[in-house]
Amino acid sequence: MSEKKAYSFELFPPRSQEAEESLRDARHELASKQPSFFSCTYGAGGSTRDKTLSTVLEIHREGHPVAPHLSFNGEDQAQVDQLLATYIDAGINRLVALRGDIPSGMGNMGSMVYANELVAHIREKTGDHFHIEVAAYPEIHPQSTSYETDIHYLKQKFEAGANSAITQYFFNPDAYFHYLDNCLAAGIEQPIVPGIMPITNISNLIRFSDACGADIPRWIRKQMDAYAGDHESSLKFGIEVVTRLCEKLLEGGAPGLHFYTMNRAEPTLTIWDNLNLDSRR
Ligand code: FAD
Repeated sequence: MSEKKAYSFELFPPRSQEAEESLRDARHELASKQPSFFSCTYGAGGSTRDKTLSTVLEIHREGHPVAPHLSFNGEDQAQVDQLLATYIDAGINRLVALRGDIPSGMGNMGSMVYANELVAHIREKTGDHFHIEVAAYPEIHPQSTSYETDIHYLKQKFEAGANSAITQYFFNPDAYFHYLDNCLAAGIEQPIVPGIMPITNISNLIRFSDACGADIPRWIRKQMDAYAGDHESSLKFGIEVVTRLCEKLLEGGAPGLHFYTMNRAEPTLTIWDNLNLDSRR
């Protein structure tokens, strides 16, 4: 019998009352798919501390599994420990542990604590309470000195106590399978779930991808250029590309899919339906 795959939905904390309401609607639609968990991002320097916390607690109160993202980035230890205690009290038992980034313009605002050190800290403070997810980079983290060192540091996160990983998004399935082979060769056997970014707005995606080191293949850029001004065709094309990517990943044995929903239900649910995931679970 094939192993049950994990499907999860990532959200970011809303920045206005209006965004909060629209996120609530999106979340309710996404929840109908009974994801393995929702996750909610955490802004550098604790910039979304309160909003991440309130969003996470709301999802938890509604009865859905939720994993807050957490980083040490610019936070002091007492603040991180306070958050951990709040999550434990609430009954939350999954986290996504990250180093985070210091946004440009924020200068020397705090210490950068590598994710493996955060994982070790969480294990030291809270034992086995949390299932800990960490980030992985099939196309390699932009600050990494080499492919091998990046895999070495992923391994350190697992050795510190992480349970599974979620990848940065990518559009080339070979990058993921090549990475899995290399992780396995390095002795990493924990699940590495591909992160999936629905393509909806190519100019935003290009800007974002340049910063996080994700490659958008030339053929996708060119085809999207050809659809410039024709929103419907470009959206249809983007959804098709990502559907095919997911199909290849699942066929190749990916342990699940983690969707970067960008707080919108429709693109992710269209891909979900295209893949017929309701009947494949
Ligand atoms: P690390 O694993 O610490 O790695 C960072 C870099 O340092 C890599 O180049 C690595 O090779 C190197 N490195 C690691 N350990 C060491 C070491 N001990 N010594 C020397 N070098 C080392 N960002 C946010 O701000 N908020 C979020 O909520 C958020 N969620 C994310 C979710 C996912 C699934 C992913 C993939 C990314 C997310 N990010 C988020 C982005 C992430 O914070 C950045 O990519 C960040 O630059 C690296 O975080 P990390 O946890 O992968 O860092």
